[in-house]
Amino acid sequence: MSKLTIPIGTLGVPRIGQRRDLKHALEAFWSGKSSLDDLEATAARLRAENWRQQQHAGVDHIPSNDFSLYDHVLDTSVLVGAIPDRYGWTGGPVTAETYFALARGVPGTGLAAQEMTKWFDTNYHFIVPELGKDQQFQLASTKPVAEFLEAQALGIHTRPVLLGPVTFLRLAKSPDAGFDPWALLDRLVPVYADLLARLHAVGADWVQMDEPCLALDLDDATRAALHHAYAALTDAEPKLKLLVTSYFGPMADNLTTALTLPVAGLHFDLVRGAADLPRVLAEAPKHLTLSLGVIDGRNVWRADLDGLLSQIAPIVAAWGAEKLILAPSCSLLHVPIDVTQERDLDADLRSWLAFAVQKLDELAVLRCALTEGRDAVAADLAAASAAYAARKNSPRLHNPEVRARLGRVVPAWAQRYRPFADRRVLQQAKLKLPPFPTTTIGSFPQTEAVRKARSHASKGALSATEYEAFLKQETEQAIRWQEEIDLDVLVHGEFERNDMVQYFGEQLSGYAFTQAGWVQSYGSRYVRPPILYGDVARLKPMTVVWASYAQSLTDRPVKGMLTGPVTMLGWSFVRDDVPRETVCRQIALALRDEVSDLEAAGIGIIQIDEPAFREGLPLRRAEWEAYLTWATECFRLSASGVSDATQIHTHMCYSEFNDIIGAIAAMDADVISIETSRSKMELLDAFTGFQYPNDIGPGVYDIHSPRVPTKADMVALLDKARAHLPPDQLWVNPDCGLKTRRWEEVKPALEQMVAAAKSLRAG
Ligand code: GLN
Ligand code: ZN
Repeated sequence: MSKLTIPIGTLGVPRIGQRRDLKHALEAFWSGKSSLDDLEATAARLRAENWRQQQHAGVDHIPSNDFSLYDHVLDTSVLVGAIPDRYGWTGGPVTAETYFALARGVPGTGLAAQEMTKWFDTNYHFIVPELGKDQQFQLASTKPVAEFLEAQALGIHTRPVLLGPVTFLRLAKSPDAGFDPWALLDRLVPVYADLLARLHAVGADWVQMDEPCLALDLDDATRAALHHAYAALTDAEPKLKLLVTSYFGPMADNLTTALTLPVAGLHFDLVRGAADLPRVLAEAPKHLTLSLGVIDGRNVWRADLDGLLSQIAPIVAAWGAEKLILAPSCSLLHVPIDVTQERDLDADLRSWLAFAVQKLDELAVLRCALTEGRDAVAADLAAASAAYAARKNSPRLHNPEVRARLGRVVPAWAQRYRPFADRRVLQQAKLKLPPFPTTTIGSFPQTEAVRKARSHASKGALSATEYEAFLKQETEQAIRWQEEIDLDVLVHGEFERNDMVQYFGEQLSGYAFTQAGWVQSYGSRYVRPPILYGDVARLKPMTVVWASYAQSLTDRPVKGMLTGPVTMLGWSFVRDDVPRETVCRQIALALRDEVSDLEAAGIGIIQIDEPAFREGLPLRRAEWEAYLTWATECFRLSASGVSDATQIHTHMCYSEFNDIIGAIAAMDADVISIETSRSKMELLDAFTGFQYPNDIGPGVYDIHSPRVPTKADMVALLDKARAHLPPDQLWVNPDCGLKTRRWEEVKPALEQMVAAAKSLRAG
């Protein structure tokens, strides 16, 4: 008698390749060094490897169409023919040229890329669908069918993945006033129905419909759209089984909607959405297949398999193995590929981690334990338990001094002594800056020479002394040049930094770094998030040497430059055994010491960057206040250990401020620089409406573009800013750091910027 087994399904796997294959193939193609055929061959190889690997790992529901050359949301826009007119597409198959124009723009033509934004609360960026009020749709690509057939030809049956129509519309933006996404639903659904029919015709039985909007605050119109869309799709293709997926949080108040959709299956996130479980089991219709997202797809820790078994076994008993699928909580796109590639991590740490490949193994062990009994995988379970316990109990996680100090924190630590108005007088007396003071955000071009020197130094080809001499020379040149063009507040240029989080993480205890732990951030850009595994402590000053060296070269103020606690947290994989806010407070205390040391070394202005402040917001509004309270407190904890005459700056990019302006004010930075040039200063509305009291440097030029702005451009933007805000509140600076630009662009741009500020001073 064969026992019932539980299928394993994944929602998607990393598409970049263990050796960053896709990035290399894309860049070779973009630079003309290879052909489209070469690119497609690499893509096909990566897909085949992924399918085979999952087959080998015992995955039953293997996804197809989770692969993308750039972004799966862009693929969906292309799939349904939602391509704005300016890209010149007139129907028919979308060429690679058009596809990459949408993704990246066309340099030298003024045709910009489509807007990009963060995928829910991840660090993955998608290309925002842009729809007109009268948008028409058509099936403009058969990628999902082609990839299904490609797998079939390899003898692998797959479950195609589509971004569902409701989440697609919900994520879309429109330049048209009065745009209502739901007015387009009846035009979009037939295109999906057509595609589903084609998938069914070639042999698909299950299709995964990603509707992560179910984890957001939804209005009734969106809920109605979900019902409407899935009723129509099921009607159109009754024999095809649709698996609607939700992830990244509980469905909560959207659960009734999800459970009443006329579909064959529902995936839910048991890691972040475990609160849904009792209602799912009580209210789901008995025919529904439940895909249980039990393995964390958002973090890198090895799972507590024993604990999970205790959670899952009752579900199996209640629901029946034949109607369950074991799955990761979400697509594995958000974790690195394979921990066995990490040769530099110590054995302890490595044994605590599970990347995508290891997560598939965890699912297999879980299944085996559930169907064959725990004894069948006793050794695997014991190893997992041991690793889990070892991590929780490791002395490396627990630093009693850090804990004790956290316990001593009193509210006054998170407050400057005097209110801003008084601090401003003291700072002005000390700094004597002109009106419209000019500065930059911190980094200067990371040239080929800078990167080469760093890489040679790390390989030992350049001695420590040689490397230091090189960095000193770069820094000195930067200081001299800033004096020459008459900037008011100088920076040292950040030449010694590899990355704004890594540079600090490498000097703090509690952080580890991978060699090959790449995760897609957008398109061909991947990041290696650090792993924040233990209590965070500063071992010694981290930036004081470079800041003081730079300050020793000039009489003008040099701004110290730090990455803030919220950003250090947000751009890392964070331990899951203590609350995030506790980890953030630990980082804040470490930075607080650095801020004090900078002050003691004679640095009178210190910038604490928080570009990740806004993206840390929870998906649900009801949780915003709690987050904003600890996040602003952590920032102030890092910033408030200095005298009132020391000026604290912060910097944020890519932000909308309207709904969080109260929290921005609560950070109480003396000066905030923000990205505003692309929005033509519209972002300042939030500050005006709120009567934001402290100083602001609205970015006057877009550092993301190679175009050099003119003085007139910047004067025009500053005039707009002056119309929003009292002139004595204004600073003049670029939108962001200049590390990705070339000196040939930076030099004229900053000269023009100083000229713009001077013309404002002249009245
Ligand atoms: N100081 C950093 C830099 O100039 C800030 C970067 C950022 O905000 N993303 O590069
Ligand atoms: Zn920035």
